[in-house]
Amino acid sequence: MRSSDPALTLVVSAIVLAVAVVAAPAHAYCRISTSCQPGLQSHVCTPAGSDDCGTPVFWATPCVGWSLQKDASTQVTFSQAEQIVTAAFATWMSTPCSGGGTPRIKLTEAQPAECHQHEYNQTEGNANIIMFHDTGWPYARSFIGITRVTYNLGTGEIYDADMELNSTNYQFTTGDTGVDIDMLSIVTHEAGHFLGLGESPTADATMFPSYQSGTTTPRDLSDDDIAGICAIYPPGEIPSDCDPTPRHGFSTLCAADQQPITCGAAPATTCIASEKGRLVLTEKTAGKEKLKVRLTKLQPAVMQSQFGDPITGSTAYAICIYDAANQLKGTYTVARAQDACGDAPCWSKVSGKRYKYSDKSTAADGILEMKLIAGDAGKDKVEVIGENTNGNLPTGLAARLQDQSRVTVQVLSSDASCFGVALTRVKKADGTVFTAIGP
Ligand SMILES: [Zn+2]
Repeated sequence: MRSSDPALTLVVSAIVLAVAVVAAPAHAYCRISTSCQPGLQSHVCTPAGSDDCGTPVFWATPCVGWSLQKDASTQVTFSQAEQIVTAAFATWMSTPCSGGGTPRIKLTEAQPAECHQHEYNQTEGNANIIMFHDTGWPYARSFIGITRVTYNLGTGEIYDADMELNSTNYQFTTGDTGVDIDMLSIVTHEAGHFLGLGESPTADATMFPSYQSGTTTPRDLSDDDIAGICAIYPPGEIPSDCDPTPRHGFSTLCAADQQPITCGAAPATTCIASEKGRLVLTEKTAGKEKLKVRLTKLQPAVMQSQFGDPITGSTAYAICIYDAANQLKGTYTVARAQDACGDAPCWSKVSGKRYKYSDKSTAADGILEMKLIAGDAGKDKVEVIGENTNGNLPTGLAARLQDQSRVTVQVLSSDASCFGVALTRVKKADGTVFTAIGP
């Protein structure tokens, strides 16, 4: 699968247990920056430091969602953890900036995550996950918490952030008394990383990278922390319809568990029908096989949203072809939401009207073009063209449909409607060419 994302890298920011109080240099805050050397964590500080480099990272949208991993921890229940994470983010969101107002960033809780690992998926859905590791901490034992931020290497725009807490080696506490490793202190520090702040050299800052067990001081932001968050997100209005959906859509699942769209064993029964349809399969010459599907005059009126959103969302499509006995005989999958085809996005749109897919390389099962056209009843349609010039079109379907008297063609979407019709007027079914119209 290709991706439209430019080069990415990860920043690992950790908080460690203090072994000695470090003398604090001049007051400062630092922002995580795009690495100057691949794989190295870098920062840009205010006032500037001698090792500053790169472009500071930031969330480009003021609305960001987070998901708590559903298992939480044996040390902290899901609802306790939920309250603590909410409180930690609220501390950053509600802090008063020096010129008035609060940082222009709004974090909201999304559905709990099933996925229990850090990942950023360039083609599948994502979630910004906060998770404990009760058994087996995958990083250095000294790290109490770690936040991994994935960003655009050129612009610094943050794509994903995942926070991990080391409940393998440390005992988290949630109250104000009997404090051991204060979860709220650790999560408030990690939330700063989640938002783009780096480690602060100031000993009383929440973003100071070491923690004294038994203390709760990092719960409250220092002047440096406040200056930092207000610099990244200067106060301003947050639109009420602001959308926290992550890049490539939201998913509670890890990429490996996210099913690409698949055709059912039998035709779906709830698809939007078309008044007219056509399937043409030409397989006379190897390397020049062609597929054409047209579902015209969809009934009733189809809105663009019924096709999903392959531009900013994650909608994938499957073209499914069934024989007269309703057995699945052909499948073509186009899971290219937000992907690049050559120099341009694979999918383009005319707002409110149509989506168009265009891929000269025909990488997705030989599909060259798809048109999903919304409109009034009878004016809306779906068209798909595939060809085997690059050897990507699955072939042999004309042979599998030989002598069939009927065929059902459906175009499914992963998160919106499906469209289809049974074609009963078969013009040709000789094993190398199959042509049917209908219904
Ligand atoms: Zn840190």
